[in-house]
Amino acid sequence: MIKVGIVGCAGRMGLNLAREVIGTPDMTLIGGTERPGGDAVGRDIALLAGMPANGVIIGVDPKTVFERADVVIDFTTPEATVQHAALAAETRTAHVIGTTGLSGDLADRLRECARRAPIVWAANYSIGVTLLTALTEEVARSLDPAYDIEIVEMHHRHKVDAPSGTALALGRAAAKGREVALEDVWRKTRDGIIGPRPEGEIGFATLRGGDVAGDHSVIFAGDGERLELTHRASSRQVFAKGAIRAVRWVAGKPAGLYAMTDVLGLTRR
Ligand code: NAD
Repeated sequence: MIKVGIVGCAGRMGLNLAREVIGTPDMTLIGGTERPGGDAVGRDIALLAGMPANGVIIGVDPKTVFERADVVIDFTTPEATVQHAALAAETRTAHVIGTTGLSGDLADRLRECARRAPIVWAANYSIGVTLLTALTEEVARSLDPAYDIEIVEMHHRHKVDAPSGTALALGRAAAKGREVALEDVWRKTRDGIIGPRPEGEIGFATLRGGDVAGDHSVIFAGDGERLELTHRASSRQVFAKGAIRAVRWVAGKPAGLYAMTDVLGLTRR
């Protein structure tokens, strides 16, 4: 039995994760937390997730959850995630992170924590997007820079970060295929008279609306032809199922920062 904790367990993803963990025979949900003062604190996690009560009450102390769990799943906010990663490092507990929007200093702190605990960090836990990422790198490696790369994403109206973490990860894969640094070639927004498109640029376009779980397209536009790779998630459950796969994979692994491509055995070394 793998003992699993979920921090941020009453969020959109948190509740999907709780349902998945409770329904997985070789896992047991040992605890969950929410932000202090949140409506869900003190309630039964399973009941909140629409299942029969299981007596696991939502608390506010992540440290106890990290101490008791083999693996803690975390789809919260960048600031909370970095605090949780410090607890993972302190207690040497495996940590599966889905939070997006971590950059700069926060990402550096996460990498530091991964020296003392096994951490899987993926902007997208779906199997399809993990394959899309590997394919994007491969296609970018095969096509010359005369093919313009554009990444288009759409998400539900509640999403707070843009471009999505997945879009940025796809951009990073394309840049890796071209052997350049994404930060040297990205164009995250366009507005007004911006002039012709420079060769080698990797562009992003962000759409927001409705309840879209997550659509991503990588477009390779050449003269006379266009190759488009597209993934559409129709339910958040695919992310939760992928995270469960990561939980099983990371339990008992040595410290280090791992990606979903590691979990699926797709990482190029
Ligand atoms: P949400 O706002 O519905 O859920 C986040 C939850 O975290 C909330 O319930 C919030 O109260 C809780 N939280 C915040 N700070 C906390 C703290 N200090 N301690 C405990 N709980 C805390 O958001 P969501 O749609 O579930 O998305 C959460 C994150 O996951 C976002 O960054 C989103 O982009 C990302 N996401 C990733 C994937 C993936 O596959 N990697 C898929 C979907 C969403």
